[in-house]
Amino acid sequence: MADFLQAVRERVVIYDGAMGTNIQFRNPSVDDFWGKEGCNELLALSRPDIIKDIHTSFFAVGCDVVETNTFGATRVVLAEYDLQDKVAELNIAAAKIAKEVAQQFSSKDKPRFVAGSIGPTTKLPSLGHIRFDDMVAGYFEQASALIEGGVDVLLIETSQDLLQAKAAVVGVFEAMQKAGKRIPVTVQVTLEATGTMLLGTEIGAALTALEPFDVDIIGLNCATGPIEMNDAVRFLGANSSKHVSVLPNAGLPQNEGGRAVYKLKPEELATYHKHFVQDYGVRIVGGCCGTTPEHLQAVVNAVGGIEPAKREVKPTAAASSAYTSVPLDLDPKPLVVAEEMNTTTRVEHFRNLVRGKKYDDILTLAKRLVNDGSHMLDLCCASCARADSGGFYGSGRCRRGIEAHSWQGDHQFDQFGRWREAHVKGASDGEALRRGSDRVDNR
Ligand SMILES: [Zn+2]
Repeated sequence: MADFLQAVRERVVIYDGAMGTNIQFRNPSVDDFWGKEGCNELLALSRPDIIKDIHTSFFAVGCDVVETNTFGATRVVLAEYDLQDKVAELNIAAAKIAKEVAQQFSSKDKPRFVAGSIGPTTKLPSLGHIRFDDMVAGYFEQASALIEGGVDVLLIETSQDLLQAKAAVVGVFEAMQKAGKRIPVTVQVTLEATGTMLLGTEIGAALTALEPFDVDIIGLNCATGPIEMNDAVRFLGANSSKHVSVLPNAGLPQNEGGRAVYKLKPEELATYHKHFVQDYGVRIVGGCCGTTPEHLQAVVNAVGGIEPAKREVKPTAAASSAYTSVPLDLDPKPLVVAEEMNTTTRVEHFRNLVRGKKYDDILTLAKRLVNDGSHMLDLCCASCARADSGGFYGSGRCRRGIEAHSWQGDHQFDQFGRWREAHVKGASDGEALRRGSDRVDNR
């Protein structure tokens, strides 16, 4: 069977364009939605011909990969339509439809692939809309069904909340472990026109948090057109140790009579993709909202045969909060790590705040330490008398890197030994401390 990552190593791999936009063009009726209008995922069961037709339209212009119609097919979203019992059925059906079309177009020289689309849901765990573990369970269920349906890649896309992206990655890896199958994993974050994710996360912080996971591709999609993505694409090209993917919208959406309209021309999308490939070494391109087969036809013509720029990435150890990333090897030195937020030191004050669940005071303390010049916070909420790490959530809202360690074991690492809520890349906790040996303990 053709290997997706092998194709990525050999050439530029081109994804399809929008699913939602192209469903709208085909005008499904209320009956097609079983009266649950807006639930595009249902069409895999009610109107598979529409979904097949969309996949066909993109493969026909030369795309290498199509995405399954499963963007919202998690329990979390389907429950809003009272369809939570259809998770497995919808995902397996959508994967099979896409695989069938892919096989029709595949040849030895040009294998075609199917990416299992995994969207952000309608909830933001960082804002407390849903528990991290519930979100992981939802993604586990969806990814398990997509794997069973035979997808070639798992595509976590349109991530707006870093914690949601991590929940998806954890769920996807748990599903692969259970299935005894390792398939390539992509994580794409969405940057608003302001240049950060919805909750204010910079691209550097997103990379620091996601890179330690065993994912294969880290990229961007949705929210804006390619023009607005340029700086972040350049950053990923220069700093990410993973392959880079870019799937922009057909420009920033314009509001016309209450409808989102996308006006970027096919040639403009193609020109930007050529620039991303030739100048930043991007190997995976495609389109998101508003992009049509005409857009992707232009992209195939522009980048199909060109050689991506060679990327020379020197991995740098770093830590991040939900907003920014701090390199451990600071220039100028030293790296200042505040230790006042560690319950295992002799500082009684923080221990009392944790015991009293005084989260507002913990946040105030964190902000003061950052204002006093700390680059990182050494956060530890371990307590003999407590079995949770609630204090973390209070201080998680401060802007500097958080070096969290030694609180209750299973909150610190997931089963793959990777950071869940705290973000340190390029070094294990102990290593991070040693490499930061030039640090000043700011008690
Ligand atoms: Zn989009």
